[in-house]
Amino acid sequence: MEKILTDLHTHTAFSPDGKDDISAMLAGAESRGVRYYGISEHIDYDMQLFGETAYDTPYFTDADEYFRVAREKKREYHGRIEVLVGAEFGYTDDEEAERAYRAFIQKYRPDFVINSVHTLKGKDYHSGVPYRLADGSLRPKKEVYEEYFALVKRGIEASFQFDIVGHVGYCTRYAPYADKSATYAEFSEAWDSVLRAVVERGKILEVNSSNKLGVSPTLPDRDVLERYFELSGRKVSFGSDAHFAERILDKREYVVKMLKEIGFTALTVPVCGEHKEIEL
Ligand SMILES: [Zn+2]
Ligand SMILES: [Zn+2]
Repeated sequence: MEKILTDLHTHTAFSPDGKDDISAMLAGAESRGVRYYGISEHIDYDMQLFGETAYDTPYFTDADEYFRVAREKKREYHGRIEVLVGAEFGYTDDEEAERAYRAFIQKYRPDFVINSVHTLKGKDYHSGVPYRLADGSLRPKKEVYEEYFALVKRGIEASFQFDIVGHVGYCTRYAPYADKSATYAEFSEAWDSVLRAVVERGKILEVNSSNKLGVSPTLPDRDVLERYFELSGRKVSFGSDAHFAERILDKREYVVKMLKEIGFTALTVPVCGEHKEIEL
């Protein structure tokens, strides 16, 4: 059987940190033979709420323009690539942000949504702020990570509709600790509460292959995916989190091999609320 290639987490220059424009990204997807291609531009009410700007540019994607252009492209590529016009929401535990995301879904009807935790009280983990106290001293890893996992768990229970739980373990990527890892062995209780919530809510757990600065090749790492499988989690998606065309499908073969070894037989693709299974 011909292999169906999927990449469900990508950005374009509509996102403040995207490099290549949508035309270059889609041309890159087509030349790599992608069949299901998800565009997931950043929508960061979590930052807006706390008066933070994302990447020194607008708070988030110009959604009007993005959805207009992306839907045109979707039509243009019809029959060649199934372009899924989606969004990556930056989750924060706040009723106002949840309301904003519900309204966003009503207004734009994204084909799918990734729900990701990037921030703690509006500060991206990337900035280093969540790891430190006001006086600049380092907070204990256990405290920071457990707080992060609790936030991810609340995100899974959010009141807005979403499909994929994005890059769980993000707190490790920019951590200032000598040992940045959040292994299942060390954080089993926290991981279990997240993984059980994913299974119970019928969400898709993303395997994110963009973790250059992190400790593991993917987020989450293999030990966590093994536990997810053990807890009867079967819905997984592949996401390169490409911000430029060259990274589309990056490490996909590695991910597919790992998932097969664990026992997974399919990837799940969310298409307008429907979860399609694509054989690995
Ligand atoms: Zn993200
Ligand atoms: Zn992303």
